[in-house]
Amino acid sequence: MKMYEKAPAKINLMLDVLSKRPDGFHEVEMIMTMVDLADRLELSELKRDSIIISSQAGYIPLDEKNLAFQAARLIKDRYNVKSGVHIHLDKRIPVAAGLAGGSSDAAATLRGLNRLWRLGIPAQELQELGAELGSDVPFCVTGGTALATGRGERLTPIPSPPQCWVVLAKPPINVSTAEVYGHVRSNSIAVHPSASRMQAAIEAGDFAAVCAGLGNVLEDVTLKLHPEVQQLKEAMVKLGADGVLMSGSGPTVFGLVSKQSKVARIYNGLRGFCKEVYAVRSLS
Ligand code: ATP
Repeated sequence: MKMYEKAPAKINLMLDVLSKRPDGFHEVEMIMTMVDLADRLELSELKRDSIIISSQAGYIPLDEKNLAFQAARLIKDRYNVKSGVHIHLDKRIPVAAGLAGGSSDAAATLRGLNRLWRLGIPAQELQELGAELGSDVPFCVTGGTALATGRGERLTPIPSPPQCWVVLAKPPINVSTAEVYGHVRSNSIAVHPSASRMQAAIEAGDFAAVCAGLGNVLEDVTLKLHPEVQQLKEAMVKLGADGVLMSGSGPTVFGLVSKQSKVARIYNGLRGFCKEVYAVRSLS
C-alpha cells in the first residue's frame, strides 16, 4: 500500500522572543502560515520491520538524523507497529532556510503513517507527538495559520491572511537556528512586533496592515551575522514587494505581493542576487 502527503513550507508573519526559559528554550510568540511550496512524500508500506528514507536531494541526511525517520520511529514505537515503511522525500523546500522543511516532512510523516497504518490518532495527539520532534512540528501537523506560543508548540488557530503572492529568496549561506537563538538577548530587544496587531489585521482581511505589521526579532541577529540578507531585503523592497521579512532564523527572505503584475519583475530582479528564488501563492 502507498500514501502520498504534501509537506508545505511555513513562513513567520511575526516572530517575537519574550524570554529565555530555565530549560534553555526561548518563550516565543509567532504567527505562522503555510505557502504553496511543498515537499512531496511517498510512503510505501514494508512487510519487514524497517524504516528506509530516500530522496533525490543529495544534501540531507537519510539516516536517523532525518526528521521524517525520527517521526516514523516515534509513531512505530508508540503504537507498537510491526510493519515498516519506505519514505521517499521529493525535496522542493530549500534546506536550512527558515522554512521548516524538515519539520514539515516530520509532520507529513505523522499524518501519512496515521493513514497508512490506520491508527486513528486524533489531530491533537499527532501534534503532541510532533512536539517531541521539534518546536515547529505541531504547527506543521495541522497547517493553516496559527498563533504559536510557548516554545512554538502551543497553537491557537486563526483565519488565513488575505490571499497574495509570496516571493521567497534564499541566499547561498547557511544559518544555524541554534546559533541565532544563542545570540538573542530578550531583554535588550528594542522593538517587539505585535501579535495582537497582526492577528487583528488578518481578521480584518487588511493586506496593507498585514504588510505593515510584519516583524521578526531574529533579523537583528541574522542580519548582523550575514549582511547579504539585509541587502536581499532592500532589493526586494526596491523591486516593489508590498511587505518584506526574513522567515524564522533565516536566511530566506520573503516578500508579500498583492498584484500578480508585479511578481515577474520581483522574481527576475532577485535572480540576480541568488539562484534559489520561488514565486508561490499563500495557502488559505
Ligand atoms: P526551521 O525553520 O524549523 O528552523 P529550517 O528550514 O531552517 O527549519 P530544515 O530545512 O528543516 O531547516 O533543515 C535543518 C537541518 O535539518 C538541516 O541541516 C538538515 O540536514 C536536517 N534535516 C533533517 N531532516 C531533514 C529533512 N527531512 N529535510 C531537510 N532537512 C532535514
